[in-house]
Amino acid sequence: MRTTTVVIGAGQAGLAMSWWLARRGIDHVVLERGARVANTWRTERWDSLTLLTPNWQSRLPGFGYEGVRPDAFRTLGETIEFLDAYARLVAPPLRLHCPVTAVRARDGGYEIESVDGTWRCRAVVIATGAFNIARVPELAGALPPDIVQITPAQYRSVSELPDGGVLVVGAAATGAQLADEICRAGRDVTLAVGEHVRAPRTYRGRDIQWWMDATSLNNETFDQVENLNRARSLPSFQLAGYCDRRDIDLNALRAIGVHLVGRLAGIRDGKLQLSGSLRNVCELADLKLNRLLNSFDQWATERGIDCELEPVHRLAPTRVDAVPPLGLDLARRGIRTVLWATGFRAEYRWLQVPVLDRKGNLVHEGGVVTGAPGLYVLGLPFLRRRKSSLIDGVGDDARDLSAHLAAYLGAQRQRSTVAVAAS
Ligand SMILES: Cc1cc2nc3c(=O)[nH]c(=O)nc-3n(C[C@H](O)[C@H](O)[C@H](O)COP(=O)(O)OP(=O)(O)OC[C@H]3O[C@@H](n4cnc5c(N)ncnc54)[C@H](O)[C@@H]3O)c2cc1C
Repeated sequence: MRTTTVVIGAGQAGLAMSWWLARRGIDHVVLERGARVANTWRTERWDSLTLLTPNWQSRLPGFGYEGVRPDAFRTLGETIEFLDAYARLVAPPLRLHCPVTAVRARDGGYEIESVDGTWRCRAVVIATGAFNIARVPELAGALPPDIVQITPAQYRSVSELPDGGVLVVGAAATGAQLADEICRAGRDVTLAVGEHVRAPRTYRGRDIQWWMDATSLNNETFDQVENLNRARSLPSFQLAGYCDRRDIDLNALRAIGVHLVGRLAGIRDGKLQLSGSLRNVCELADLKLNRLLNSFDQWATERGIDCELEPVHRLAPTRVDAVPPLGLDLARRGIRTVLWATGFRAEYRWLQVPVLDRKGNLVHEGGVVTGAPGLYVLGLPFLRRRKSSLIDGVGDDARDLSAHLAAYLGAQRQRSTVAVAAS
C-alpha cells in the first residue's frame, strides 16, 4: 500500500496533524492500534480523572469549547466525548486495530509494517504519545513480595486497591492527585516527595492556566529556553481540576492527613530508606513558586490591570517536619500497596531507524527528527512550546510541523524532477 504520509496514533496529536495535512492537501493515513480514537484516554487513565486544564484551554485546530462552563474541568468521559467530536470534524483517513510493528527507512522514504499490511510513504509523523510506559525505578525489585505494586496506568479506583495503607511515590500532578483521592477515601497515605513544582489552582482570582496563557509562558518556544533538556524533564504542576478548585499542594495534602516523607532512596528488608532532603526540595519549590507569582504580578502591573485582579498575596511556606524520617517500616506502617507515580516515558520498540539516544529518547529539533529526513514527532513535552504536551499545545506544533513536512515533500519532488530532466 502506498500513501504520501503515515501518521501513527489517533490521539489529539494524530488528529490535529491529520487536520493540518488535509488542509495542505497532503495525502495520508492515520494508523491507530486501539479500537477507537483517544485510545489512551479510554484505556490508561483512572476513573475519576478530570483534566487539570480548564475547558476553554482545550483548543484544537478548527475546534474549541463552545459550552457554558469554560472554567470547569472535563471529566474523563467528557474528554473522550470531546476527542470523539473532534475526530468527527477531522474525519481522518483512519485505520483502527492497526498497531504499527516496525518503521524502517527505505528508498528515500519509509516502510511501515502494521497488522493491516505494509505501507510505503515519503514521510512519517509519530504521534504515539509521550506517556506510554509508567516509569518504575529499579529499587521496586527490592520490595517484599506481599506488597502490591501498581502504576497510574493500571490504577482505576481506590476500591480496587488491597485494604491497608498506601505509599504513593512521586508528587507531581499524578502522585498528588492520587494521594488526595486515596486519602479522602479513608486510607492511610504516605507520599514520598522528591523534586516537585508547586502551583496554586487560583491566584489573584484567576486560574493558574489563565496566567500561563495570558503571560505567554505556555507559548514559550524551545529555542527561547536556556536549558531545554531540563525544561523537557520538569515534573508537572501539582494541580488538579476539581469543581471546588482546591489546591493539592503538600500543605493541602498534609491538612487532610497525608504523611509526607522524603524521596525514596532505597529499600532493604521491608524498610524504606528516605532522603533527608524533604525540607530542601520544599524550600526550593516555594522559592520557584514565588518567582513565578512575581513574574505574574510584574506582568499585571506592566499591563495596568492590577485593579481588575484580587490583591497580591503569597502562599504559606510548605510545612514539613523539622526532622523528617529517614526510614519507614512498611509492615509497621500497615502499607500494603505502593503506587509508582514516578513519571512516564515514550516507547519506540517498533522504530527501526537509528534516531534514539542512549536513554531511548528520540533526538529531534522541535519535532523534526534528526538524521531522518521526512520523520517527525508530535506530542512530547516542550517539543516546540511549553504547552506542547497539552491538548491546547498540539495544534500549533502540528501546524508548524505540517508546514515543514509540506516543504520537505516539495523539495523532494523538485529534486526528482531535476534528476529526471537531467537523465
Ligand atoms: C495522567 C495524565 C493526565 C493528563 N492530563 C492532562 C490535562 O489535564 N490537560 C492536558 O491538556 N493534557 C493532559 N495530559 C497530557 C496529554 O494531553 C495526554 O497525555 C494526551 O493523551 C496526549 O495526546 P497524544 O495524542 O500526544 O498521545 P495519546 O493520547 O497517548 O495518543 C497516542 C495514540 O497512539 C496510539 N499508538 C501508540 N503506539 C502505537 C503503535 N505502535 N501503532 C499504532 N498506534 C499506536 C495509542 O493507542 C494512542 O491512541 C495528561 C497526561 C496524563 C498521562
